[in-house]
Amino acid sequence: MSDQPAVEAVDTAVYTVPTDTPEADGTLAWDRTTLVLVTARAGTTTGLGYTYAPAATAHLVRELLAGTVTGLSAHDVPRANERMCRAVRNAGLPGVAAQAIAAVDIALWDLKARLLGLPLVRLLGAARDDVPVYGSGGFTTYDTARQERQLRGWAEEQGIPRVKIKIGESWGTREDRDLERVARARAVIGDTAELYVDANGGYTGGQALRLADALADQGVTWFEEPVSSDHLTTLADIRRRTPIDVTAGEYGYALPYFEHMLAAGAVDCLQADVTRCGGITVWLRAAALAHARGIDVSGHCAPHAHAHAAAAVPNLRHLEWFHDHVRIERLLFDGVLDPGGGSITPGADGAPGLGLALAEERAAPYRVE
Ligand SMILES: [Mg+2]
Repeated sequence: MSDQPAVEAVDTAVYTVPTDTPEADGTLAWDRTTLVLVTARAGTTTGLGYTYAPAATAHLVRELLAGTVTGLSAHDVPRANERMCRAVRNAGLPGVAAQAIAAVDIALWDLKARLLGLPLVRLLGAARDDVPVYGSGGFTTYDTARQERQLRGWAEEQGIPRVKIKIGESWGTREDRDLERVARARAVIGDTAELYVDANGGYTGGQALRLADALADQGVTWFEEPVSSDHLTTLADIRRRTPIDVTAGEYGYALPYFEHMLAAGAVDCLQADVTRCGGITVWLRAAALAHARGIDVSGHCAPHAHAHAAAAVPNLRHLEWFHDHVRIERLLFDGVLDPGGGSITPGADGAPGLGLALAEERAAPYRVE
């Protein structure tokens, strides 16, 4: 133990980046996105992690987590993760605390890999070289031209053969427009690309089942959160009655959440978000839970936080190449990955850790604390 480097400091920074145009899904609208950055230092080596969460997340890192983690071996990330989970017992783990833990956990994995001079995927051990991605955006606020431009960007310019648009507009009250946008999307991407939809819990159970038939007619193969992820039996019922894959899991903040979702038979593919679920440590365990049931996992949003962990699991389906986050990660970081052809190859350049470096000059104007 004594010859292992210790975590000496954990620091935070908060960046808020306006969207390029107003964005909305079925149940939420936004015009800016906040990224909470965490750095963890051992000697002269610094790792970085992040989450998309309110600035309060950074406060929680400083108040409850930094002191818990400093002094621990930088090699023992699961120990640090467990200590952090215990430290937030009374604050409540799900939500902001889990996001805070996730950002620190990711920073610690990045730090360890950097200390060892390895790309993180080499430290974790690869199950694959290439990580498939799908283009994700198609916000309900987009007009026809903008949706088409975005879809062509993925399908034609970047050669990504999987795309997802938002439906369930205005809490499921715009069914006709939803179906019209799905039909337009299919027309734009052609017959061979995969077309996914995400209702963000905007429909009722009966409504989702009725719409599933129309979506299947358009060759839709992925129906994300047709109803709220809170309603596991309804998800399971929809799943039994449509050939389209039913998916959910983005609000999983701890391992038992994923176990409950899987045990309910609620999903064909488990989504998990490394920046919400407690970091890479917990994301890998969630993937293992799914693997034990013969279920794939897909990484939700924040593609560069997922990339290396995704390459380390055998039952990965893909990562979400989410427009809003891709744009922010390209702005704030150097070392971002190229999704050309529909997949990324983390670690291919040999850069240690996540392979990301904060682009200080570009990031400075967006720093809010
Ligand atoms: Mg979603």
